[in-house]
Amino acid sequence: MLEIKNLHVKLEEEDKQILKGVDLTVEAGKVHAIMGPNGSGKSTLSYVLSGREGYEVTEGSATLDGTDILALEPEERAAEGLFLAFQYPVEIPGVGNMTFMRTAVNAQRKARGEVELSSADFLKLVRARAQELQIDADMLKRPVNVGFSGGEKKRNEILQMAMLEPKMCILDETDSGLDVDAMKLVASGVNALRDEGRGFLVITHYQRLLDHITPDVVHIMADGRILKTGGPDLALEVEKNGYTDLIAEGA
Ligand code: ADP
Ligand code: MG
Ligand code: MG
Repeated sequence: MLEIKNLHVKLEEEDKQILKGVDLTVEAGKVHAIMGPNGSGKSTLSYVLSGREGYEVTEGSATLDGTDILALEPEERAAEGLFLAFQYPVEIPGVGNMTFMRTAVNAQRKARGEVELSSADFLKLVRARAQELQIDADMLKRPVNVGFSGGEKKRNEILQMAMLEPKMCILDETDSGLDVDAMKLVASGVNALRDEGRGFLVITHYQRLLDHITPDVVHIMADGRILKTGGPDLALEVEKNGYTDLIAEGA
């Protein structure tokens, strides 16, 4: 479903190559994890897939069900079914969470040629999803992420993910900031949304998140490349031995 081939990415402003040939295929129904030391290019990969500015693809491709996602605007990528969650979600003062989510959902429906949801239908849907995920619906009345605790932001992110029903979810849970409760929240959200038609790419620095989300495949990234691919036990091996030995082996 998500197919990344020989992806090379450099910074637009500087002559600095960050991704040096990433090959990765995430099949529908599978959870793939990417682990790797700091600075290996994990976040860059998620930014490039999301369409963030400042990065230049110099070689390679990324397709979602055969569609070249790198050629699309960020909102078009979302319409194709790509969802990206980041560690620090933006705060949008003055915009209600409910309005924000409804706009996002309806923009996606429109792009897919589906009818937009009325506010009553949207409300019904969002309440049902919130209940399934054990999320307090009161959060919907507040401005987007403003004054949300770390845990509330995570909940909100998971709710957005559930509402948008993406084909492919990419979560970049960078090194710091995720306490045990937030981690469990992310994990239970991912587990609840696991589905044979949906793929996940979970990017994480630490193995502990993978105690709660059992991945089907684990990739180790180092210096802009996938160094090694294995099963869930590869994450445990990294937890035990660190990255240094693996990187030395691969070099
Ligand atoms: P990871 O998420 O694996 O820790 P990143 O993708 O954040 O790695 O970073 C990979 C490398 O690219 C690092 O050396 C980082 O300093 C560099 N880098 C990424 N984005 C930028 C940027 N906008 N400006 C300068 N350096 C950057
Ligand atoms: Mg980092
Ligand atoms: Mg990172």
